[in-house]
Amino acid sequence: MYRTHTCGELRMADVGKDVTLSGWVQISRDMGGLTFVDLRDRYGITQLVFDMEANAALCETARKLGREFVVTASGKVNERSSKNPNRDTGDIEIIVDALEVLNAAKTPPFTIEEDTDGGDDIRMQYRYLDLRRGPLQKNIIFRSKLAIETRKYLDENGFIEVETPCLIKSTPEGARDFVVPSRMNPGQFYALPQSPQTFKQILMVAGYDKYFQIVKCFRDEDLRADRQPEFTQIDCEMAFVTRDQVLATFEGLTKHVFKTLKNIELADFPKMEYDEAMQRYGSDKPDVRFDMEFVEMNAFAQGKGFSVFDNSELVVGICAKGIADKYSNKDMKLLTEWMQRPQIGAKGLVYVKFMEDGSIKSTVGKFFDDETLRSWASHFGAEKGDVIFALSGEVDKTRKQLNELRLEMGTRLGLRDNTVFAPLWVINFPLLEWDEESERFHAMHHPFTAPKKVDEQKMLSGDHETLKNLKADAYDLVINGVEIGGGSIRIHDRELQSKNFDLLGFTKEEAEAQFGFLLGAFEYGAPPHGGIAFGFDRLCAVLNGVNSIRDFIAFPKNNQGRDMMIDAPSPVDNEQLDELNLALNLKENV
Ligand code: ASP
Repeated sequence: MYRTHTCGELRMADVGKDVTLSGWVQISRDMGGLTFVDLRDRYGITQLVFDMEANAALCETARKLGREFVVTASGKVNERSSKNPNRDTGDIEIIVDALEVLNAAKTPPFTIEEDTDGGDDIRMQYRYLDLRRGPLQKNIIFRSKLAIETRKYLDENGFIEVETPCLIKSTPEGARDFVVPSRMNPGQFYALPQSPQTFKQILMVAGYDKYFQIVKCFRDEDLRADRQPEFTQIDCEMAFVTRDQVLATFEGLTKHVFKTLKNIELADFPKMEYDEAMQRYGSDKPDVRFDMEFVEMNAFAQGKGFSVFDNSELVVGICAKGIADKYSNKDMKLLTEWMQRPQIGAKGLVYVKFMEDGSIKSTVGKFFDDETLRSWASHFGAEKGDVIFALSGEVDKTRKQLNELRLEMGTRLGLRDNTVFAPLWVINFPLLEWDEESERFHAMHHPFTAPKKVDEQKMLSGDHETLKNLKADAYDLVINGVEIGGGSIRIHDRELQSKNFDLLGFTKEEAEAQFGFLLGAFEYGAPPHGGIAFGFDRLCAVLNGVNSIRDFIAFPKNNQGRDMMIDAPSPVDNEQLDELNLALNLKENV
């Protein structure tokens, strides 16, 4: 028998028992007459003691144990004379009388402790060692629990889990597809799904009513800390539902997982119109843990001779509390430069400091006297010690830039507390986005999203300007400035769907070739339906107050999309290419 107990289990009540433990050697310490070994498994660490006097040979063996050796030890549970209050098992130790080395181990390339000295690359390459560390184990176990609680909730609410295929058809649904060559169909390719969108809609046509799936999705996009080429969604669809029923169901799911996994009771989620979110926060995923809301300044800052403001579509600002005296000219210069980096691209940054001594320092003193600037303060609710920051330019760009500044100031002022959770629904997104470059509309959510009922007619017959302003029955769940998920009520009428494809620039033939199956299905009794998908990895991260999703994925890819452990992607040999009918193509392309 390898073990009677785990390494995290034994307590004072077990003193005197004969036990057997198995695990990995965390550390072996030779203290002369006694040798102490910390034995670790995923449940905890238990101290083993070897006594030279009682059994010299055994003690010798123990002294030679290297880090990460796998051993089985048997002995008696003993009360420790010096207890370790930081460990659950810290009151006891095992006086070992038998030890078996099950497997030796090379010295690991980094320390396997709470905090490791290993860099990212080496930890990715030896992922199995990194995964032995407490923090990662905690995350992976958390993920498992989140999946189980999600299934429980959805099952209790009548959802059916259905698997949809991984080898599907390539469609231009937003991101780039990963494609897979088909050996049996020379020259043809499958694509890995960006989401099971069309399949779940087909399931509604098929009468399945409430579908869910915890499912891998694949998008060939540039990567960031919160993006992976393959990621997991909690994907759902419901038939015969209104938007508010969908929202209520998934608000319920969110509350359920916060309650069961974090013991946090979330209050009801507010709903905010997309337009309002953009106006108040410059973002469709506002972090509403803190205020610092936008104040539009056109009415009182234009027409005073400051041409930068006068020639702008929008002048808008925020008020940062209590930093006027703390931020030197140099700090302001650095902040301005930060705003001017290409990632943000602001032309400049106007500020007005209301100093504690009542004086005012500003970059626009030439154009606005103190009295005028004081009147600005009343619009912003600014007091002594506060700073107003203002940007101006085209509406969308300026809002986006100010959003970056707002988030940065929120972080600097410690207003983005990771233990506070502020969820909200953002609703009524635009249906279509006009892209100047390609001179065509893109679907803001995806091509299957329905317009708001009141906009249906306008969609069928409206002119360009009208089309730009159509609203979709689409919604996102946002928590702490992170988009947790999004969805929409779908089009379920063939005509309207065809019209949407048409607006998105598909010819009839293209629409038929790519989505004929869905259009066809809509002719055989498609019920009204709608759904949503949550980013599962992101939900894990947000629930734990962190940004990176990587630590919640057992085997993630790095920023180049590589799996460092198995070293993928990798070349395949010519024979394999030949079989896939790709060798010839490659040669032709050279
Ligand atoms: N399929 C959508 C997505 O992946 C979600 C949805 O509309 O249900 O974003």
